[in-house]
Amino acid sequence: MHTRTCITCKQTLPSNLFKYRATREEAKRKGLSGNTAAWVESNRCKACRPKRKPPSKLTRNELANRVTAGDVSPIEAERILNERELKRRAKISEYMKVRHAMLKHMSLRPTQLKLFLLEQHIKKEQAQQLKQEQRDAKHSAKLSTPPRKRGRPPKQLIPTTPLTTGQKSVQGETHER
Ligand SMILES: [Zn+2]
Repeated sequence: MHTRTCITCKQTLPSNLFKYRATREEAKRKGLSGNTAAWVESNRCKACRPKRKPPSKLTRNELANRVTAGDVSPIEAERILNERELKRRAKISEYMKVRHAMLKHMSLRPTQLKLFLLEQHIKKEQAQQLKQEQRDAKHSAKLSTPPRKRGRPPKQLIPTTPLTTGQKSVQGETHER
């Protein structure tokens, strides 16, 4: 039996482990006609040879190049591209399904909506009341002590929605100036 030594792992192995089917491009590079996919011998054994990308993993351009070289049939390339497109569409449709389910879950029925709005309204009123109380307290404090340090109102004391408090604080500041 013929043997050969691999230049990478330095093991002496049967020579058939060094043979591989070259693509037409590779065959041409090795000085062969390139009319057929020839068997060529490598310096590396099968385990040490870099793995070739399977056609299904090739990019669109790489596939086109393989097709022009004659290593991949146009039908095979088309099949791969079609499959990829189907996968892409399935992904999008899956995403849309999840999105739809989420929106449906988040949306409320009319009766629920009424309750929700009422709750929001109460919260808002409570927030305004609290804000007013704080403003009054601050105002009276200002009257008793000279304004030495101009700082922001203590935001962490207001347990309300940030939008309303933000607007109110801006208004408050403009009044102070
Ligand atoms: Zn090796």
